[in-house]
Amino acid sequence: MIPYGRQTIEADDVAAVVAVLSGDFLTQGPEVERFEAALCDVTGARFAVAMSSGTTALHAALAAAGIGAGDRVATSPLTFVASANAARYVGADVELVDVDPSTWNLDLGAVPTGVDALVAVHYAGLPVDLAALSRSGARPRVVVEDAAHALGASTPDGPVGNCAHSDMCCFSFHPVKTVTTGEGGAVTTNSPALADALRRFRHHGVVRRDGDPHWRYDVPELGYNARLTDLQAALGTSQLAKLDRFGVVRDRLAARYRDAFTDDPRVELPPEAPAGWRHGRHLFVVGVDDRDRVFEELRARGVGVQVHYVPVYRFGAYGGGRDVERFPHTERVFSRIISLPLYPLLADDDQDLVIATLRAVL
Ligand SMILES: *Cc1c(COP(=O)(O)O)cnc(C)c1O
Repeated sequence: MIPYGRQTIEADDVAAVVAVLSGDFLTQGPEVERFEAALCDVTGARFAVAMSSGTTALHAALAAAGIGAGDRVATSPLTFVASANAARYVGADVELVDVDPSTWNLDLGAVPTGVDALVAVHYAGLPVDLAALSRSGARPRVVVEDAAHALGASTPDGPVGNCAHSDMCCFSFHPVKTVTTGEGGAVTTNSPALADALRRFRHHGVVRRDGDPHWRYDVPELGYNARLTDLQAALGTSQLAKLDRFGVVRDRLAARYRDAFTDDPRVELPPEAPAGWRHGRHLFVVGVDDRDRVFEELRARGVGVQVHYVPVYRFGAYGGGRDVERFPHTERVFSRIISLPLYPLLADDDQDLVIATLRAVL
């Protein structure tokens, strides 16, 4: 089966992890700070705080921003459920907003007035136009980016992760994402206060005062163990150095899919980034009629496609599809989407096979 996504691990990635194994620190050592510095370099943010997963990064970001019970958090229903779960972890209410059919991102014009926070998901790697949100004057008090798909993406305001129009930006380093640490995540921000709050969240709420003996600390508020290990951080630093190279390959593969299907009316191509923007290219999602049949037949023929995503409002924990009619655009997109294989190690021959198989099935 050709998978829809997979990691690219090279000999120097392996060596980086093995070197940590024979060193002094498997966790809480120097590798996490090195990884965070590399993330700051790549994104242009002042601070990066590594976390144990992308989900935990989202949880930490909302907690650090002081979002809690009684607050309303808007996000897209066309996302991995973690984007919404994060709001529930801190006791907030989730307000799902229908997608814009021209971007498949949440429709910024439909965000209810008075929400306390927005979790902006850059679906498939296409950045949400947060500059437009800032200009509109309707920016919620807290804006957190879910950039699990968008490491390496950029807008005219610079790389996603520089927080030009957000408070914090969250990344995931799960193996299907652009670079991996196995499990892992991070939050970037330009705010020293938020960076401190994120570090407290990650380490049990522990606060140390300058000049106190090494054993003394306070725990003024609840925290967690949300740490990334040094093994993972070393892998992440090694992987981040390859981000540009991986991005070039992903761009090239996406262009090959576009060329293959551009004149085929049976295949709806995904929204493209505007001129001057860079797409993150996490997923290559096409729309087809009769999706369920196409999905089954592709998998039966060895093409490991996936559906990203079942909309959040269809899950039991989010109403079980009680109010699908509030999301006409998401419903239409959901009924048609299929993610084609896209990852740096996908050989041209295998991609040609994917293209030919999709044509045959259609
Ligand atoms: C992968 C992903 C997450 C969660 O990241 P993990 O590292 O798997 O916890 C959150 N949001 C989106 C959009 C994702 O794709």
